[in-house]
Amino acid sequence: MRGVSYCGDMQPWAPVDVPRLAGEGPALRLHDTSTGRVRPTAPGREALMYVCGITPYDATHLGHAATYLAFDLVNRVWRDLGHDVHYVQNVTDIDDPLLERAARDQDDWVVLGMRETALFREDMEALRVIPPRHYVGAVEAMAEIAELVGKLLASGAAYRCDDPEFPDVYFDASTTGRFGYESNLDEATMLRLFAERGGDPDRAGKRHPLDALLWRMAREGEPRWESDLGPGRPGWHVECAAIALNRLGPRIDLNGGGSDLAFPHHECGAAHAEAFTGQHPFAGHYTHAGMIGLDGEKMSKSRGNLVFVSKLRAEGVDPNAIRVALLAGHYRSDRAWTADLLDTAQARLARWREAAALPAGPAADDLVLRLRTHLADDLDTPRALAAVDAWAAEALERRGTDGAAPGLVRDALDALLGVRL
Ligand code: ZN
Repeated sequence: MRGVSYCGDMQPWAPVDVPRLAGEGPALRLHDTSTGRVRPTAPGREALMYVCGITPYDATHLGHAATYLAFDLVNRVWRDLGHDVHYVQNVTDIDDPLLERAARDQDDWVVLGMRETALFREDMEALRVIPPRHYVGAVEAMAEIAELVGKLLASGAAYRCDDPEFPDVYFDASTTGRFGYESNLDEATMLRLFAERGGDPDRAGKRHPLDALLWRMAREGEPRWESDLGPGRPGWHVECAAIALNRLGPRIDLNGGGSDLAFPHHECGAAHAEAFTGQHPFAGHYTHAGMIGLDGEKMSKSRGNLVFVSKLRAEGVDPNAIRVALLAGHYRSDRAWTADLLDTAQARLARWREAAALPAGPAADDLVLRLRTHLADDLDTPRALAAVDAWAAEALERRGTDGAAPGLVRDALDALLGVRL
């Protein structure tokens, strides 16, 4: 698939200046869902990272922000280690939830998608998330997605369901012989999550309930794209598989997203890619960020309990404080967003700024080493932030005479944590 012509990727957001720090930290270790362990990452000179993007039917909430901030730290740590990070992210700008929302609000799905994608880019820029090199919408990738589906069909990894009216194309989950390896779930759990998260286990005419949709034949009134498969539109998982394979190749270092993507999305995407390439595993690490809750419940569109980044920004909240608040918890833990969390982060940021504005402070080489060491340990941001607190406390007690320290601390926080003091 590599070498297929593609063009017109969406514009990502503005680039972020990342200061270079002297020296080097330990190799990055990250949790991998497929093995259930924290293992070293081992990218080559070029580190290949694919993080699943949004379905743009609602603004960026803090759950999204936490996920993209976690993988922004991966990006920063790898860059600090000298890797050239090739980061790709998609936008699912055609899918059932987008169409359903547009219909509910009597909105045009194209306009809705463009509006929310623009807002997402603004939020990412405000949070100083390093942009992906390729930011790709499903609509603009339609030809390559259809091509991958066609190849899976031709190889026998996919089939048309037994429905004369709508012979949709499904992936045969038994193809690779290892379906379930990525999420490590038993079949009963897979079936439950498949039904809960957009799958169609009960669709008549499929060979197996867990077979995932690759190409949906056009229904009356639905947007459609012409292809050799017949007019229709793609399933979600194959969208990411095609976009990743064509830009990053058959084997990537990291496939990331929120923990609700571990199954079925990443399981199916990996199976599609592996069925096509014959190589296993598709990703060296499958890494998942925890969910952000509000008032004891997971923040989600269906519950309607979302806190939006754009709304906080409009209220004048410093995006650096949002970053510090979300990084105060470990990326893998499900955690709550509270007013206290934001207040604490704002106070913390103010203290750090006061300390870093002093003419001198305690030598900061040890702090840089601790930041690198904690981040390399599965992005242990709570300990990294505590190390900054300790340096700031000493500096504010005027216990340092190193005139270069405040500047080094500013650079280190900027480079490694993405926090600008
Ligand atoms: Zn994806």
